[in-house]
Amino acid sequence: MKSLENFTELDYFLPKMDQVAVPDFSAGAMENWGLVTYREQYILHEEGVSTSINKQNVATIIAHEFAHKWFGNLVSPTWWRYTWLNEGFARYFEFFTTHSVETTWRMEDQFVVRQVHTSLSSDSLESAHALSVDVGSPSSISSIFGTITYNKGASVIRMMEYFMTHETFRKGLSNYLAAHGNRTAEPDDLFASLDSQYLQDFPNRPVSVKTVMDTWTLQSGHPVITITRNYISGALTVTQERFYLRRSGDSTDTHDYKWWVPLTYTSNTNRDFLSTTTRTWMNSASSQITINNLGASVNDWVIFNIQQTGFYRVNYDAQNWALLANYLNSDSFTNIHVLNRAQLLDDAFNLARAGSLGYTTALEITKYLSRETDYIPWFSALTGFTYLDRRFRGYGECNYTVFKSYLVGLLNTTYQTLSLEEGADDDHTTKLNRNLILTWLCNYGVEDCTNMAKSEFNKLLLDSDYRVTPDLKTVVYCNALRYGGEEEWNFLWNRYLTHNVNTEQVLILGVLGCTKNETLAHGYLRKTITSYSGIRSQDVSSVYPSVYNNVYGVDFAINFLSQNFRDIIEFNASVSSVVSGIAGAISSQEQLDKLEQFINDNAEELGSGTTTSALNNLQTAKRNLEWLNTYGSTIMSWIKQQNYRLPSHIVPYHYNVVLQPNLDDDTFQFTGRVEISFNVTETTDRVQLHANDLEIDEDTIAIEALTVWDSLYNFTTTEDSLRHIYDIKLSDYLIAGRQYKLHLNYKGYHREDMAGFYRSYYYRNGVKRWLASTHFQATNARRAFPCFDEPALKAQFKISIARTEDRHALSNMPVETTEQDDVTGLWWDHFQETPMPMSTYLVAFVVSDFVNLTSDDGKYRTWQRSDAVDQAQYSIDVSPPIMAALENFTELDYFLPKVDQVAIPDFSAGAMENWGLVTYRERNILFVEGVTPSNYKQTTLQVIAHEFAHKWFGNLVSPDWWSYLWLNEGFARYFQYFTPAEVEPDWRLKEQFVVAQLQTAMSVDSLASTHAMSADVGSPTKIRTLFSSISYNKAAAVIRMTEHFITHDNFREGLVNYLKDRGNDSATPDHLFESLNVNNEGLSVKTVLDTWSLQEGYPIITVIRNYDVNNLFRTASVHQERFYLRRSERTSNTHEYRWWVPLTYTFQSERNFSSTTTRDWLRVSQESSLITDIGANATEWLIFNIQEIGFYRVNYDDTNWNLIISHLNSDQLTDIHVLNRAQLLDDSLNLARAGILDYNTALNLTLYLTRETDYIPWYTALSSFTFLDRTLRGLGDTEHSYFKDYVLELMESARQSLGLTEDPSDDHVTKLHRNQILTRQCNYGVQSCIDMATSEFTNLMNNPDNYLVDPDLKTVVYCNALRYGGEEEWNFLWNRYLTHNVNTEQVLILGVLGCTRNETLAHGYLAKTINSDSGIRTQDLSTVSSSVYNNPYGVDFAISFLNQNYRQMIYFNNSTSTVTSLISNIAGVLSTQAQLNELSSFITNNSAELGTSVTATALNSLQTAQNNLDWLAEHGTTITNWLKSRRYRLPTDILPDRYVIELIPYIDNDNFTFNGRVEIFLDVAVATNAIRLHANDLDINATSVMVDPVVADGTIVKPTIQSKVYSEDLQIYTIILSDNLVVGEQYKLSISFLGHLRSDMQGFYRSYYDVEGERR
Ligand SMILES: [Zn+2]
Repeated sequence: MKSLENFTELDYFLPKMDQVAVPDFSAGAMENWGLVTYREQYILHEEGVSTSINKQNVATIIAHEFAHKWFGNLVSPTWWRYTWLNEGFARYFEFFTTHSVETTWRMEDQFVVRQVHTSLSSDSLESAHALSVDVGSPSSISSIFGTITYNKGASVIRMMEYFMTHETFRKGLSNYLAAHGNRTAEPDDLFASLDSQYLQDFPNRPVSVKTVMDTWTLQSGHPVITITRNYISGALTVTQERFYLRRSGDSTDTHDYKWWVPLTYTSNTNRDFLSTTTRTWMNSASSQITINNLGASVNDWVIFNIQQTGFYRVNYDAQNWALLANYLNSDSFTNIHVLNRAQLLDDAFNLARAGSLGYTTALEITKYLSRETDYIPWFSALTGFTYLDRRFRGYGECNYTVFKSYLVGLLNTTYQTLSLEEGADDDHTTKLNRNLILTWLCNYGVEDCTNMAKSEFNKLLLDSDYRVTPDLKTVVYCNALRYGGEEEWNFLWNRYLTHNVNTEQVLILGVLGCTKNETLAHGYLRKTITSYSGIRSQDVSSVYPSVYNNVYGVDFAINFLSQNFRDIIEFNASVSSVVSGIAGAISSQEQLDKLEQFINDNAEELGSGTTTSALNNLQTAKRNLEWLNTYGSTIMSWIKQQNYRLPSHIVPYHYNVVLQPNLDDDTFQFTGRVEISFNVTETTDRVQLHANDLEIDEDTIAIEALTVWDSLYNFTTTEDSLRHIYDIKLSDYLIAGRQYKLHLNYKGYHREDMAGFYRSYYYRNGVKRWLASTHFQATNARRAFPCFDEPALKAQFKISIARTEDRHALSNMPVETTEQDDVTGLWWDHFQETPMPMSTYLVAFVVSDFVNLTSDDGKYRTWQRSDAVDQAQYSIDVSPPIMAALENFTELDYFLPKVDQVAIPDFSAGAMENWGLVTYRERNILFVEGVTPSNYKQTTLQVIAHEFAHKWFGNLVSPDWWSYLWLNEGFARYFQYFTPAEVEPDWRLKEQFVVAQLQTAMSVDSLASTHAMSADVGSPTKIRTLFSSISYNKAAAVIRMTEHFITHDNFREGLVNYLKDRGNDSATPDHLFESLNVNNEGLSVKTVLDTWSLQEGYPIITVIRNYDVNNLFRTASVHQERFYLRRSERTSNTHEYRWWVPLTYTFQSERNFSSTTTRDWLRVSQESSLITDIGANATEWLIFNIQEIGFYRVNYDDTNWNLIISHLNSDQLTDIHVLNRAQLLDDSLNLARAGILDYNTALNLTLYLTRETDYIPWYTALSSFTFLDRTLRGLGDTEHSYFKDYVLELMESARQSLGLTEDPSDDHVTKLHRNQILTRQCNYGVQSCIDMATSEFTNLMNNPDNYLVDPDLKTVVYCNALRYGGEEEWNFLWNRYLTHNVNTEQVLILGVLGCTRNETLAHGYLAKTINSDSGIRTQDLSTVSSSVYNNPYGVDFAISFLNQNYRQMIYFNNSTSTVTSLISNIAGVLSTQAQLNELSSFITNNSAELGTSVTATALNSLQTAQNNLDWLAEHGTTITNWLKSRRYRLPTDILPDRYVIELIPYIDNDNFTFNGRVEIFLDVAVATNAIRLHANDLDINATSVMVDPVVADGTIVKPTIQSKVYSEDLQIYTIILSDNLVVGEQYKLSISFLGHLRSDMQGFYRSYYDVEGERR
């Protein structure tokens, strides 16, 4: 009362306030002046018995009735038409006055979900009435005492308060009460009072209160405003229209609904949810307005209707919804105001239901609820889910279970926060929230919840004075009845009858219908038609809903109605209103039919009036079923995609798999039988397992109980083809703790898609031979046999396979017995049982006529086509030492009795680590010396090591789920370098690791499209995306970093423990981290590695030194931030990326590049830190990240960069470790590309490559140059030639050291190096290289069977022979491909056939990708197009091919995926705007045919190309200027010491020439064979150029001049010698020349004067 008196500035008027609790009362309460009457439950409250919501009701209803003293009693409406002037205000104060008394109850927040949302819902129907509405009769008057008048009235009043501002609103109301007190009023009186105050406080108010409010009070309904953003200009348009939840087709309403809408909004860029001031008005004349300069950047969401102060809904364009969903699903979600979170949920659910928003978009919003713990959004969400829940009850038991488990998953975090018990500190809304959440969990049968309910109820049964926590009562009572019987029901009924507290009585009436016993339910319903039943007539209405609101209760109610309708009529109750109630709860067609049938059958007895209105009431149910037809499958498939996991309560431990393959008829259909033994860990009535593309014979399914004698045969099955789940629902329960065995027979297919149990072929003597092989990783075991196809569900396997006599079968284990089937004549191989449990994806079998090569001990066998048997020797030679090295490292011997390795002609991956039976692509296991290049040989060794490493990392310890795939692949990739390094120590594999793995991972991981090492995945498609350079390369690099910061010994010991602890089980990264922590004190491995494995990306470390000349402060500040290659990608993410960074460094005078011990940590809590003594003096360089151990980039201040550069450009360059030279190149070029480092600095650093001859830094340099080469081409040939010439100049010493041909003494790395240098030489048109290539190729063509091109020159020779040759060369190679017996040769040829510069040939080659008889296997198709577009001229060929053939590509693949990927690949390599225009016009011209999804992806790819062109516009000039200016400069390897100049000028004849001779004494600083000097306008007498050693004692050889070149452009004269000049020696260069005495006052010029008329 006090609060209301303060607000209104008017004291209460009467001398007293009586309030009476009346046992029978029709309304909730009545505001009679001075004597307010209530239902008991709304005024009486018993602490400890009544619930929190009861208490809230008492407070709010008192506030409501008291508010009427002013709004209603003091100022009464002139007529009931304006009832909202009473009830709207009373409802408004109900919340806002209670808030002033109970400040912690969040009544203001509750207002939004309880009043605004509910009224928006009622107001969205066509039948909704306006707030001010014509009424006459008593019945029409009573009909408006509803949600519109109360809830919408209050909501619109609140909106008014916000646009006027609170104090203006309050004073206006006070004026209104003063002006109209003791009289009556109309809305116009209210608006006038408010407006005069508004005008007084805001003289420039944009619009009058009446103008605005007439649109809200005189029209029915409310608007939905739709926001469409222009993401380029930043502007957005807003439109308004009336929102209908559904529209009937026959509406006659032609009114043009428009409102004055107060718009409030914010964006993530300028987040402000506190300001509710109207920023823009949308007036009632406009259906669209534009808002500019909202200040939202492209990647940031916008939200309209701050705190939902406006009475309207908001819809957005798809992109903004996606941005909102993304943000909500991040740690930052609470930055969005809690009321707007509730608003987004409510709007999304209702817009979707109305068909204005896709359900998948709406559901994406709901995903964030797994993080939400606040009552307000949950209230809103569960209101939305109630509708879905009701509908999905009728969508099949299996689907409904999926729906429920999605919701239970979302509820889990809140549930964990709230728990089952009330806490002493729980506030009011926490209690309300617990009741809400537990109600759903118990309804969904979550055992913790139902057990709590049963046990609490039992206590109450034993002691009726036991106090169940009031806010748990509905949950406890309802579930006690559900899982109990008559005893429980009668107990509660008696409690109802005898209880002294009315809230308890009413609560009990609300739950008595929870019983699952139909007789009890009918008994309860009967009380509604029994006189003196004990239930007061005011309460009778709660009986029916209490029954039919339960899933099973709908049928009870329908049955009761049809059996008792005569009694209902006789009792004078309304049959049609019972029908109406039930209709709203109906979920299935069956229920609807039953009810409709009942009405039609009894139409006569019901009477025509009742029949008509009852049938009418069924409309709701019909609409709901239509809704389910329209949206059910979309919603269900979205929900299914949220969880692909099997339930965890069935744990298989043994499989018998019996297979009869079929390679000899056209069906390729095989038959199989499985028996799976499993444990049950939780009592259940369903078995779900995986099956895909299998036909399971339902008649053969049996589940046998193993521990007790029993079999279960009664079940129904459902196939969920989306998730490949086969669902067996039993009529009985499988009991926790017991074992069962599932039997079934099925059929499957050997397909050609290289997955599951697939078929492959090869030709032997011209005959096609079929074989069958398997590839299961990750989710394809389910295509060979039904199984629990998750990596953690390991079991032992016993496998039997049938085969024809001419074939043999292989599996993980050796054959145990073989027998012949007398009937079929087939041979059955029964394999030994696997000795330990293994994951399904590691099971394998091969049925073929392959032959093998066997190691001496018989343990290793390599199997292949018989023609290739000699190619297997290398694998047999290297397998044992690799295995031994791994056994040695892990201290665990290999586990199985044999290792079979099979070369499969068709294979989708590179190889597969199946236990005991590793399968490979041919090229990765077969090898021929003299034919196969060194890089393939290296690959073979490494792939074998990779697969063998998996025996421990993957097979023995398997990932707990695919999210942790990096636990397999990171280690396999790591060992694929570090184990072969022990077998082939000269191959420099440890160094190759850095440039081939770490640096490539850094490149991928610097884009926004990257993912974290541990990433959430569900669907097979998502799982496939994890087979990425992050899971392989980055993980291996992070593992290497870990090895160094914990030391090698601890690393090895930790891994040994890890394998012991987790062997024959599965592991998570936490298991690994714990093991690695073995001897670690202080900083835990988990603490460090969580920052590397859970966050995507990696840091750039910036080192800024203090160059104190006295060297007193040798400090450096070190700063970390995430490195983005593209600046534009930086803004979108609000996560603060920081890492635990192990810092290693050394400096010039220390030069300790061997110690990789961490010298300092940059902590996750530090953006930067100061290293107090770095040891380096001011004139010395400092280098961080020794041997590039850390997975990060390093930037320095300019001075330090220059110190490093000058050291690299000296003879002492090798002082800096070769890996750090590679690192400096990679870091500087990438930093420059990202715009972080000046390109001049990065290019200055590359200058040192003139002295670099090592493979490793060159590998890095050439990788980095690829981007520059491709991009700079866009500037035109001349500009590009500067770059080309520069690279050739840098390569010169490397080229010279390697030569053009292979030397017998060349080591492995030299061969690799020569290939990479010559490739570039020939690409750049260096004649000597091209000559070598064409002559080698001619030799080969002349003698194709015997001439051997050096294997490591092959790519260069073949490619350039095609480039400079024609059809003959091309056909020669194509035939060689078709007929060659060595797969590495075939694959190599496929990789170069695109080198041709003949467009017709290139198109012909590309056309082979859309021809099933082309002779190219599917696995190799991707090589074809890349071989074309990787050539500069090939980009245009690929674009023209695409233009001419895209229809055929779509038709051939029956999919648009190859078109999409070709577009994206071309976009990645194109160089010019013209190419981009051509590609983009192709897309726009054909977008109708390509479809929206291809078009969208393609336009996205074009963005990448555009980015590259933008990059060129930004950096191109800097780079070319640098390149150009460099060309005019002389090298500094030779320095002039002394000149001797002789000149004879001829000034007396007309020639004006001069003769000259110069001797220049040169000091040689760096070995070089080139002397460059300037000359301009001089004719050099070439024969007179001489170079002589100054010391002519014969110790220094006189250099021979090879050639002399003059560049007029550069004014540089170059003398090339056949040998290098000797460093430290002096030479004399002598040149004779003729010059011109010029007239232009430049150089040696002539002048004159006249003496006595004579010119001198
Ligand atoms: Zn692997």
